[in-house]
Amino acid sequence: MHTHPFRRNFTFAPVERELVPGTVVRIGRRPKQEFIAFRSKVVSRTHAELVISDDLQVYFRDVGSSSGTFLNRLRLSPTGKESRPYPLKSGDILQLGVDYQGRQEEVYKSVMMKIFITVNRNAAENRPRMKPLRLKLALRNLLVAMTPSNRDASSACTDCCICLSTLAPSQALFLAPCSHCFHYKCVVPLLKSGGGVMFQCPLCRQVANLEANVSIDE
Ligand SMILES: [Zn+2]
Ligand SMILES: [Zn+2]
Repeated sequence: MHTHPFRRNFTFAPVERELVPGTVVRIGRRPKQEFIAFRSKVVSRTHAELVISDDLQVYFRDVGSSSGTFLNRLRLSPTGKESRPYPLKSGDILQLGVDYQGRQEEVYKSVMMKIFITVNRNAAENRPRMKPLRLKLALRNLLVAMTPSNRDASSACTDCCICLSTLAPSQALFLAPCSHCFHYKCVVPLLKSGGGVMFQCPLCRQVANLEANVSIDE
């Protein structure tokens, strides 16, 4: 991912980061190495973050900044409130904070940036979600757990890792691409906080793109 100076009056050098699934990149005023940091008083210490799904979709969310974040001029969340994640694409304009009124210095200006995303095809082919055997095993265990006649002590026991109770026949379930399975009811709050576009597994932290294309291309 690549951000580019956009503003006419003050500009900054392009900021480039290589993002791999499972990493979270924080954006804020805090001058730490893992941060994309901006020296502006309207940027919160930890302002926003970038998350990457296993199919390489980049998401952006405000993590409760005080002066807000704007994606293509729309504010993502009220002051101090975390926003849902928004999928980013090249050409999107992000704005952190709003200009202080009556101050002209650079440090009182909001930060505007234009996003460029390039996907490394080699990395895309080695993406970690390709674990068909693990998924097959998870499905087999589920099938056993869901069969009423197998409900005895010796059957493969599969638990929902959120409520810690057993997955049993006639329950609605959610199977994540990482092979972890939950009661649908237990997973709903996580689906909501992901805005229905992203799901982060509470067990392995793998991020799934819920809007990914489901047609098979080959
Ligand atoms: Zn549960
Ligand atoms: Zn998982």
